[in-house]
Amino acid sequence: KKFQNVHFIKSAVKPEQYPQHNLPEIAFIGRSNVGKSSLLNTLVNKKNLARISNTPGRTQQINFFHIDEKLCFVDLPGYGYAKVPESVRKQWKPMIESYLTQSQHLKGVVLIVDARHKPTQHDVLMREWLLSYQIPTIIVATKIDKIPKTKRQKQLNLIGDTLNVQATESFLTFSALTAEGVKTVWQAIAQITLP
Ligand code: GDP
Repeated sequence: KKFQNVHFIKSAVKPEQYPQHNLPEIAFIGRSNVGKSSLLNTLVNKKNLARISNTPGRTQQINFFHIDEKLCFVDLPGYGYAKVPESVRKQWKPMIESYLTQSQHLKGVVLIVDARHKPTQHDVLMREWLLSYQIPTIIVATKIDKIPKTKRQKQLNLIGDTLNVQATESFLTFSALTAEGVKTVWQAIAQITLP
């Protein structure tokens, strides 16, 4: 898939600051270092798109990107990062909660977990949150290249069980290293964002 026009729109903390547009939004969330930036970059085939989200001042904000003026990627700040000061952590919850409940354009969330590990307590809480808000969720187990093929099914069962994934839901694997899963993740995004 080739994109002509992928660009950063703005950062926001409060609903008044969200972009005034009429595009379907798909938000990405996961614990810090899970591979969210790598997933975003790989999906749009740009090396540095998500680097914007990692520049000082923007890491703890919600970052919006337009994809060919058809779709908006929303990069939500990662959770569970020990180095983040308590004051910042306190702001995270209301900021994310406001976005999830007040965005006019949110169609679904991509919840990213590390394929190598049992989902953390934070992952489980995030999942419960999304369920309680009834937000369509695509669960992506990334860094799948790190798991030998013979061990994948067992590991995916563990992740699926821990996050209470239902048979009807999207539960996908991905690797930014091999680009495995790019197509299926895009299909899942298209399914929940396109009219
Ligand atoms: P973020 O903090 O969630 O945005 O995570 P990054 O995308 O910056 O990735 C964190 C680390 O994991 C980096 O060292 C990446 O190179 C590595 N990483 C990300 N995705 C993958 C993947 O699919 N496979 C492997 N092997 N490493 C990955």
